[in-house]
Amino acid sequence: MIPGLLLVISGPSGVGKGTICARLKTMDPTIHLSISMTTRPPREGEEEGREYFFVSEARFQELLKQGELLEWARVYDFYYGTPKKPVMEMRAAGRDVILEIDVQGGLQVKANCPDSILVFVLPPSFDELASRLQSRGTEGAEAIATRLRWAREELRSFRRYDYAVVNDTLEEAVRKVNAIRVAEKCRPSFHGLAWLDSLEE
Ligand code: ADP
Ligand code: 5GP
Repeated sequence: MIPGLLLVISGPSGVGKGTICARLKTMDPTIHLSISMTTRPPREGEEEGREYFFVSEARFQELLKQGELLEWARVYDFYYGTPKKPVMEMRAAGRDVILEIDVQGGLQVKANCPDSILVFVLPPSFDELASRLQSRGTEGAEAIATRLRWAREELRSFRRYDYAVVNDTLEEAVRKVNAIRVAEKCRPSFHGLAWLDSLEE
C-alpha cells in the first residue's frame, strides 16, 4: 500500500485555509482533514470532535508529555496540537492527510516527517486579509487586531515553505493546491510498487 501524502496548509487567519480545505475534501472525500486539540474555548456553533477536540490545559500538557502530539504550538494565548495516531493510521491506509496548522507547527511537522509537504496560503493583499477577517464576523475588533498582528509575523515565514499559493480567486487557489497534492504523489520516491522493486533484484 502506498502511504497517503501529508499536506500542511498554513497562512494567516482569514486567508481562506478552512474554505480551501473544505473544497478539497469535497473534490476527494478520501482526504482526511486532521482534527486538532485546543485549549481555546469553543466558538458558537463549534462542536466537540468536529472543528476541534476541546481540552483543558492540564489534559493538553499530559498528551504532550505522553508523546501523543505530532506537533504543537501556542497561538493567541491558547495551545493547539495535532493528535499523532489518526495521522499515522490514515496515511498508512493510503489516505492523504491535511493539517491546517500554524507556521510553528508546520515546521515541526517537516522536521518530524521529512516527506510532508508544506503549502503557505497568501492573501492577495494585507487589506484584503483584513476585510475577509471582518466579513467572516467570527471575531470582535480586538481579536481581529490580534490576528492581524500575528499575520504580519507569519507572513515573514512563507519562504520557508515548499509552496506558496495566493488565494485571490477561490477556485484558482483550490485548483493550485490540488495540483500540488497530485504532482507530489507522482514523485518517484512515492511509488513503492513491489513489482518494480523486484525488477531491480
Ligand atoms: P482561515 O481558515 O484561513 O482563517 P476562512 O476559510 O475562514 O479563513 O476564510 C475567511 C473568510 O474569507 C471567509 O468568510 C471565507 O468565506 C472568505 N474567503 C475565503 N476565500 C476567499 C476568496 N478567495 N475570496 C473572497 N473571500 C474568501
Ligand atoms: P482558530 O482559533 O482560529 O481556530 O485557529 C487559530 C490558529 O491556530 C490558526 O492559525 C490555525 O491554523 C492554528 N491551528 C489550529 N490547529 C492547530 C494545530 O493543531 N497545531 C498548530 N500548530 N496550529 C493550529
